[in-house]
Amino acid sequence: MHPLAIIGGGASALAAALAARACGVRAITIAPPGADGCGVAYSTRDPLHRLNVCAARMSIIEHDLTDFVSWLRARDGQVQPQGYYPRAVYGEYLRQHWQSVDALSATAQRLAPRAGGWRIETSDGALDAARVVLAIGVPPAQRLPGIAADPRVSLDAYSPRRDWPQRGLLIGSSLTAVDVALTWCAARADAELTVISRHGLWPLAHNDEARSGEIGVDVRSPRHILRSLRRAIDGGVDATAAVDALRESTVDLWTGFARTDRARFLRHARSHWDRARHRMAPQVAREIAALQAQGRVRLIAGRVQRVDAGADLSVHWRPRGRREVDSLRVDAVVQCTGFDGGLAAADSPLLRALLDGGLAVPDAHRLGIALDREHRVIAARGNAHATLRALGALGRGSLWECTAIPEIRRSATRIVAP
Ligand SMILES: Cc1cc2nc3c(=O)[nH]c(=O)nc-3n(C[C@H](O)[C@H](O)[C@H](O)COP(=O)(O)OP(=O)(O)OC[C@H]3O[C@@H](n4cnc5c(N)ncnc54)[C@H](O)[C@@H]3O)c2cc1C
Repeated sequence: MHPLAIIGGGASALAAALAARACGVRAITIAPPGADGCGVAYSTRDPLHRLNVCAARMSIIEHDLTDFVSWLRARDGQVQPQGYYPRAVYGEYLRQHWQSVDALSATAQRLAPRAGGWRIETSDGALDAARVVLAIGVPPAQRLPGIAADPRVSLDAYSPRRDWPQRGLLIGSSLTAVDVALTWCAARADAELTVISRHGLWPLAHNDEARSGEIGVDVRSPRHILRSLRRAIDGGVDATAAVDALRESTVDLWTGFARTDRARFLRHARSHWDRARHRMAPQVAREIAALQAQGRVRLIAGRVQRVDAGADLSVHWRPRGRREVDSLRVDAVVQCTGFDGGLAAADSPLLRALLDGGLAVPDAHRLGIALDREHRVIAARGNAHATLRALGALGRGSLWECTAIPEIRRSATRIVAP
């Protein structure tokens, strides 16, 4: 019998490999040279970049939910289970687990169905597998329209850099923008950063004092949900606690809604949902508030229309709700918007081969590929492959909340089981 092949070198692949071992499934992981289980999120070495989920919820192993806290205790002697540790510390934890994984150092380039499973062509030869888990993350972000292709414009918020010029623009105000602002201001005392996003709002902060209470959420449609959340919030329940009340049922809700309701949610509620669901650690929120109070970081609601490259970078942007265009000059721009669709043009030969060959299709909202509730990849003909599944952010459009570690490790355990 051929093994289960797990394609990827980040936290999803690691969670799947550890889950396979726990349930006695023989697995091989196919990961690019240098991969170590940390992936994009946990490769950062900057101690200012913190987890946005507390330590007690960050075990990478579903059958041992205290694993990360135990690892911290063994390392430091003391531990704060409700604390938000630097992601670099979590990276060390993942790296240690990665050492026990049976990994082939290669990139997967193409998959072909064959009797009894799949043939995987890799940069290091072909491999047969009975089942395959795609844990390849999402492709890098593409340049927004109108943004100059210039070395001073970075699309990769986490690419290491030594020179941090004085004046910067961050496009987007997500957790990624928060990370970049903290690093930039720590590297350069006279930094002047402008952050422009559609709503001009940071993610909310974790609030351990938040009142959750009993929230009767009416889940018939997004409109009903919003109405009951609003009622709960008006009644004194914290907005973040209200969103947390839906944590366990988000996938059911998302998959149960009509496509038009999901599209409406993405259009009108997505940024509000994201800022309540993916929150800043309390100390990160304090640091970013202090930078704003000192005038080193300013956050504006608006839309960047163009960035032109000359001696400076000229940014043309439209303030929210206004017609006239404003401009400002900066020395560098970081696009902090992340991947948001456009798989066909993405720089991933494996994904392109899957789509071109009809083995996978983009999901209805084009945020990733179409999956069924059990993470089975749906082919162009509409059938779900019984032995090809995907884990992590590629499933966002199909399953919505599937990218944080608690969801990844839970799903990993379900999908690798024999
Ligand atoms: C900045 C950031 C911070 C986050 N913080 C938190 C947090 O605090 N708590 C939390 O719960 N979640 C957090 N998340 C969510 C995070 O996405 C997940 O926790 C997890 O890291 C996702 O990992 P992944 O393996 O799915 O994807 P990735 O990390 O993108 O890894 C994908 C891997 O697949 C490899 N790969 C791609 N193509 C191929 C191929 N063809 N062949 C072989 N390998 C391939 C890549 O090289 C890479 O190693 C954060 C996310 C980000 C981006």
